[in-house]
Amino acid sequence: MGIAQRYARIREEIDEACRACGRDPREVLLLPVSKTVGVPEVREAIAAGALDFGENRPDCIVEKAEALPQARWHFIGNVQSRRIRDIVPHAHLIHSLFEERHLRKVDAVAAELGKVQDALLEVNVSGEASKSGLAPEDVAEALRACGELSHVRVRGLMTMAPQGDAAVAREVFEGLRALRDEAQRAVEPTVDNCQLNELSMGMSEDWREAVPCGATIVRIGRAVFDDAFEESAQ
Ligand SMILES: *Cc1c(COP(=O)(O)O)cnc(C)c1O
Repeated sequence: MGIAQRYARIREEIDEACRACGRDPREVLLLPVSKTVGVPEVREAIAAGALDFGENRPDCIVEKAEALPQARWHFIGNVQSRRIRDIVPHAHLIHSLFEERHLRKVDAVAAELGKVQDALLEVNVSGEASKSGLAPEDVAEALRACGELSHVRVRGLMTMAPQGDAAVAREVFEGLRALRDEAQRAVEPTVDNCQLNELSMGMSEDWREAVPCGATIVRIGRAVFDDAFEESAQ
């Protein structure tokens, strides 16, 4: 099976998973993560109907966005202050912001470019030391601080679950959704640039847990781009 067929098959599986839990499939974006492949492979996914792609390194988002400006490029990787200038011109949505100084710099760069940068706040729901993101108890305050930024719009939250245990992943995804619901109730009405519709959660191994918990963006790399992943899953 090639990239186009795998993309189409996962899209169908997501649609089925949505129907099984009473959700509208149009609520869930399949975001192929193209970080391990080049422009030709991305073209195959575009031919299969993909429009949005995730990248985790500044050099790669710049290179691919310049080669394929018809696609929408999401930055999902570790944000470093000195690379924000490279990321913002190309990013449709930045999923991985959580430090206030980075949010301020994104705001300043977006202002210079005359754009409003859509962003998600990354939350370390599981509390694993190896994961980045805000502690759950700091989300409300971080959202309030974003209220001062006129060129950033916070569209929701993002998390990564520990790998290898579906039940744990599900707890993490339910946790992110609960945080979002609470922030929608308590913070959104008082912060103008905050509309928390998006939940970016779920990857190749755990998107099936994320969809019933309310994921609106599933970030899928290997299951779309790697034939070996398909073989090992079967
Ligand atoms: C690589 C990556 C993914 C995709 O992971 P797969 O397991 O290959 O689906 C999703 N999110 C982030 C932040 C990543 O870095």
